[in-house]
Amino acid sequence: MDAVSLARQVNDGKLDPRDVVHDSLARIQRLDSRVRAFLRTNPQAESEAERVGRRVQEGGSLPLAGVPVAVKDNLVTRGLETTCASAILEGFLPPYDATVISRLRAAGAVIIGKTNLDEFAMGSSTEYSHYGATRNPWDLDRVPGGSSGGSAAAVAAGFVPVALGSDTGGSVRQPAAFTGTLGFKPTYGRISRYGLVAFASSLDQVGTFARSTADLALISRVLMGHDPADATSLQEAVPELAADPVSARGLKIGLVRETLSEGNSDGVLDAIDRFRKLLETEGVRFVEVSLPSLRYALAAYYLVATAEASSNLARYDGVHYGKREAAGDVGGLLQQTREKGFGPEVKRRILMGTFALSSGYYDAYYGRALRARRRLALEFAQAFAEVDLLLTPTTPTPAFPLASRLADPMEMYLSDVDTVAVNLAGLPALSLPAGFEAGLPLGLQLIAPALMEDRLFDIAALFEEVTEGAYLQLAPLD
Ligand code: GLN
Repeated sequence: MDAVSLARQVNDGKLDPRDVVHDSLARIQRLDSRVRAFLRTNPQAESEAERVGRRVQEGGSLPLAGVPVAVKDNLVTRGLETTCASAILEGFLPPYDATVISRLRAAGAVIIGKTNLDEFAMGSSTEYSHYGATRNPWDLDRVPGGSSGGSAAAVAAGFVPVALGSDTGGSVRQPAAFTGTLGFKPTYGRISRYGLVAFASSLDQVGTFARSTADLALISRVLMGHDPADATSLQEAVPELAADPVSARGLKIGLVRETLSEGNSDGVLDAIDRFRKLLETEGVRFVEVSLPSLRYALAAYYLVATAEASSNLARYDGVHYGKREAAGDVGGLLQQTREKGFGPEVKRRILMGTFALSSGYYDAYYGRALRARRRLALEFAQAFAEVDLLLTPTTPTPAFPLASRLADPMEMYLSDVDTVAVNLAGLPALSLPAGFEAGLPLGLQLIAPALMEDRLFDIAALFEEVTEGAYLQLAPLD
């Protein structure tokens, strides 16, 4: 059942949240040994559901009453182990809830469990997890994308209607595309990062997954809004996210030329054509636009993201959090903890970031990446003077086979070619399922100007209406 209907029935007293949570846990129990979306379920889920039931009985109407939500394991949950899929945080019990978790609980949601990810959210396939890979529910021999692959798979498999991920360079949108789910990343600063374990702070945003536009809007609306605990949190009024197909008519969409040339599979190009034709008959206009600096986006992203990561990850020293490897003096403790605690991809990122920031190379690498970032932001602004939204593929191809990109880090990084520019510019974007290729789902990415999230949901709602939800299906797992 979708989140909108679940919450309505719980609020109307027609459904007991304990039964909802029980059903969700039973499905996880039955099928997740094949998918491995979850690192752990929440042992308190049933008692939390009972509390929600009491709040409703006492007359409260809660926007997410009884809705089970899966949460990426880089969001801290009080008293519930949070590992970022890293050995270095094994056993870490956070003393507080992330702001997004508090907001979910206040809205009546039940945290059903913590989902798998690439270690510290660094990756595009959920294979760089210390606890093993997550599988794509559409084809268990393929990756679900990453780094929020566990959350995407949990929604695609019908374990939960909605889930939280984080998106630093595409980690919500790319797995959404690979799993046939909707994925949303808001304007930088819209959703609090307090309690999101930092990867690259100038790029990180919490994002959401769902199987319907209405559900995606419902959970995103609950999360958005100012938080004094996050210095980068925006003060601006939160949009309604009405997901109103009528408001979508008359909007003008720019097709980004640079993302439509080489490298895309036929299915992706067909999906773009179909999307355009279907929406043109509904009064949406399409033009072509160009963003020449897009070709620098991937390089700039992998410099900025690794530079920030090398600094953010300095805190894992064997003293403050999680695992400790004692070895003689303090230096030995630090070295051994980090040597044993971090996986190979995380080490590679720390090395690259440290290099990019080192004296003598700072201007040539980090400095130039910042200049490319500014130019990209400017080109986006120029494009948005002409159009209301931009459209690109979310990824050039559908989900790739497990292990197929592990040998070549560059090929793995190229999985993000269409998503990273959005984070560099701080813009909101949404990936929606828009086709199938050889039985695998495909996604398209809509990008809006800063603060204009409403438009993304209006277009997504219109597309869902004209296609009658044809691309919003549960993965064929049963
Ligand atoms: N795949 C990208 C990376 O590896 C993006 C990750 C993310 O958005 N968290 O950095």
